[in-house]
Amino acid sequence: MTKWVYSFGGGLNEGGADMRNLLGGKGANLAEMASIGLPVPPGFTITTEVCSAYYENGNSYPTDLAEQVAAALHRIEHAVGLTFGDSKAPLLVSVRSGARVSMPGMMDTVLNLGLNDETVEGLAKSSNDERFAWDSYRRFIQMYGSVVMGVPHHRFEDILEQAKHALGVTDDTAVKANDWREIVESYKEIVLKETGKPFPADPQEQLWGAISAVFGSWMNPRANTYRKLHDIPASWGTAVNVQAMVFGNMGNDCATGVCFTRDPSTGENIFYGEYLVNAQGEDVVAGIRTPQPMSAERATPDQSPMEKVLPNAYQELMRVREILEKHYRDMQDIEFTVQNNKLYMLQTRSGKRTAAAALKIAIDMAREGLITQEEAIGRVPPASLDQLLHPTLDPKAEKNLFARGLPASPGAAAGAIVFSAEEVEEYAAQGKDAILVRIETSPEDVHGMHAARGVLTTRGGMTSHAAVVARGMGRVCVAGAGSIHVDYKAQTMTVGSTTLKGGEWITLDGGTGAVYVGKVPTIPPTLSGDFSTLMGWADEVRRLRVRANAETPDDAETARRFGAEGIGLSRTEHMFFGPDRIGHVRQMIMADDPTTRKKAIDALLPFQRDDFASIFRIMSGLPVTIRLLDPPLHEFLPHGEAELEEVAKALGQSVDALRARRSALSEANPMLGHRGCRLGISYPEIYAMQVRAIIEAAILVSKETGEAIIPEIMIPLVGMKTELDVTRKVAENEIAAVFKEQNTTLDYLIGTMIELPRAAITADQIAQSADFFSFGTNDLTQTTLGLSRDDAGSFLPYYVDHGLLPKDPFVSIDREGVGALVRMGVEGGRRTKAKLKLGVCGEHGGDPDSIAFFESVGLDYVSCSPFRVPVARLAAAQAALAHKKKEAATS
Ligand code: ADP
Ligand code: MG
Ligand code: MG
Repeated sequence: MTKWVYSFGGGLNEGGADMRNLLGGKGANLAEMASIGLPVPPGFTITTEVCSAYYENGNSYPTDLAEQVAAALHRIEHAVGLTFGDSKAPLLVSVRSGARVSMPGMMDTVLNLGLNDETVEGLAKSSNDERFAWDSYRRFIQMYGSVVMGVPHHRFEDILEQAKHALGVTDDTAVKANDWREIVESYKEIVLKETGKPFPADPQEQLWGAISAVFGSWMNPRANTYRKLHDIPASWGTAVNVQAMVFGNMGNDCATGVCFTRDPSTGENIFYGEYLVNAQGEDVVAGIRTPQPMSAERATPDQSPMEKVLPNAYQELMRVREILEKHYRDMQDIEFTVQNNKLYMLQTRSGKRTAAAALKIAIDMAREGLITQEEAIGRVPPASLDQLLHPTLDPKAEKNLFARGLPASPGAAAGAIVFSAEEVEEYAAQGKDAILVRIETSPEDVHGMHAARGVLTTRGGMTSHAAVVARGMGRVCVAGAGSIHVDYKAQTMTVGSTTLKGGEWITLDGGTGAVYVGKVPTIPPTLSGDFSTLMGWADEVRRLRVRANAETPDDAETARRFGAEGIGLSRTEHMFFGPDRIGHVRQMIMADDPTTRKKAIDALLPFQRDDFASIFRIMSGLPVTIRLLDPPLHEFLPHGEAELEEVAKALGQSVDALRARRSALSEANPMLGHRGCRLGISYPEIYAMQVRAIIEAAILVSKETGEAIIPEIMIPLVGMKTELDVTRKVAENEIAAVFKEQNTTLDYLIGTMIELPRAAITADQIAQSADFFSFGTNDLTQTTLGLSRDDAGSFLPYYVDHGLLPKDPFVSIDREGVGALVRMGVEGGRRTKAKLKLGVCGEHGGDPDSIAFFESVGLDYVSCSPFRVPVARLAAAQAALAHKKKEAATS
């Protein structure tokens, strides 16, 4: 015989916290609380298996269910000494849904079930409180009528409001027994009118009606939608809990409340919550009366904290709070009721909390000895650290919403509205704060984005250029705020009838996507205290090193401050866009003979050397990987006529000749075009110059600081060993020349990106010519899936929404495809060189899920944007712990 029903409370606990799959979260924890001796009204749980069986058998129950329910109900009757349906002293129950994970959309709880015209009189007599009995009855009809029978909620509300109006009272508690009697009559009439059926008087019919409504709600549209959005399989099913009622509405020594064992927004170890005297169930959250605080410490003089009003029950609750935290070893979110000064526990679960609270609670609990340091590391979701690393809007400040876009890069920033990158730089040069507002951004805007406090675009998604670059830089970004109309010419942006002009201030909240008019005050992040403690603990257990992707001194400094252990990717081309360089870059590209080209290249050398020297200085003592020129040349080309003329003048060529060269350079598919090492092979002098700049800078800074600098020179987009051989030769020749000129030497590494499938497949060959590999998983994802990130916006979201892909492969690595190639590259590389240094750079290096994967394939380091360094440190620690646990389990 299958056991469909599990009892809890009243001396028999058949379930426990570890049975959440079978009993749902609520039922499992009610049994757990009862079994550790906490005061839980007795009840039983109908398992999630009944739900599955119910749907498999065409909405009918297992035949022996009724018998098991009857037996369990009998146990409740026995435990509390009352009988269900008894006209003198009736047992009343609540019927509560409860899935594995708490799920909106499920049926609301029905309280006071078992009341009818007869039993209500019994309850009035046995409680000696007529008002209470009728208050309970009207609540029951209202709840059952709406959630089980489908009568619109406001029908009941209207009746109650009219009645209160007629009586001249505002508070429910002021309504007297006789008035409730009349209201109950009107309620029953409205049920009959709305449903064509009388309100059921038979308690058994009521009970099964409510149970069926819970199971029925599992498949309602709201629940279905929620499940789809959260990847919850329909097969999980919901459980139903039937529990003896306790009453918080029986007078002024009664109450109901919800609270957290610690403050869920700050994490402070203080009892946090609300309660209401003489109230029932959801009154606290329903906003019928103003709930009061729990602790006297948190109360204002005009409030009535539970600590003062119901001191005995409060002390009991404090005791329970401690027991619960010790037992569950986590902050709990609890629901309770006080009946005649006696406390009853009705729910516990681990409480939702902000990132700040998660951090504080984890550290505090480890210090209190409730959990270990390793557990504390696991208690903070790495991605949530983002919230802690950026200034945030002062929650108390007044705000005037202008528009909403996507929360593309977190933090808060305020500044003047500025519509071009150049103008932003002018603002920055004068020390003024600016927000760059563009319809969308392109590589040319990168300098302006860097100089801006934040970036706002009206087009593009979470992986648009603006979003990716802003995240990389740690700039606040709201992307795709489509309701804003930007007019570059008029220098205005408009939503509806509100128009803001260039120079006026706005504030961006990159955490929510909100754009506010004017300057909203912010509060700064704190990187000390608990944050640095947790980071320290994480660093003790992680194996993966964490480096940063950075090219500007600013970014390198941020990276170091956040604990980066080197630079894993420095993109030299980002330096090409500086206003003092781009002219030379353009001349280099447009030159039609080697001599002119050489002149332009030589002009660039000192700039590049300075760039590298300043990074080496900041990262002194740590490895720095510099990638040689990667993007296709036309990204740097002059756009407008004026720019074209400028370059023509500098080169002494005609504008027409340049125009011809520009169109010759344009490509149908630049991502797969003339870029990466292909450029270094066509124009070896460009790579030679970059290598020279790197080596000269390294020698310079080594001498300056007395610390050895070991530059790591990285060749991009290698697909074959031969490509690496050719470019390596160019680099080595140039390095030898520098050494000879300066009569010195220096250790260096020359390695390659693995970012093409062919490179991963032939990694064993490529390793013969490489000192290290860095997996470029952005390009590897594009080339493995054969899709371009810039064009994927039109179909990729659909793929993710409809489960064709589990996640956006640019955010979290596609383990089965791209991941398999990474694994192949690791194995191939290490077959040739057992100690080959292996890392990853690109967006995945800062994604916790991807980091877990990189841990499992044994990479040496991940490299991510500076602001993700702490995220990566924590994720790497969690991955190492999970890996250790798995090893221990299999050995
Ligand atoms: P939810 O899942 O929406 O929180 P619950 O099943 O927890 O719904 O019920 C909501 C509230 O109803 C509880 O917090 C509690 O105040 C009240 N409640 C539920 N069952 C009982 C009961 N047996 N006795 C008294 N109050 C109850
Ligand atoms: Mg609840
Ligand atoms: Mg690449």
